[in-house]
Amino acid sequence: MTNETQTSNCNDKLCPFHGQISLRGRNFQGKVIKKFPKRVVIEFDRTLYVQKYERYSKRKTKLHARLPDCLKDEINIGDFIEIAECRPISKIIHFIAIKKITGGKE
Ligand SMILES: [Zn+2]
Repeated sequence: MTNETQTSNCNDKLCPFHGQISLRGRNFQGKVIKKFPKRVVIEFDRTLYVQKYERYSKRKTKLHARLPDCLKDEINIGDFIEIAECRPISKIIHFIAIKKITGGKE
């Protein structure tokens, strides 16, 4: 018998905790800049080495991540969250939000 202590009214098939999907690949952390039903867009900085100038240049990366049902109330715009790579769910989504790190109020 499985004893589910988690607040699970999560019927999301593509939830990494309650669903079928498995996570593999890379993890990223970033700030939520947009929120849609079942999807968030996060943004984070990455540094790119520019050989010509021997300096690092700061670039921004945006990634679309799926927002599982059980996290949709917890994660809001401005929060710092962690996402993990999974199989491509749709054309632009191949990450899933897995946890909130800090709530942002910037
Ligand atoms: Zn869930």
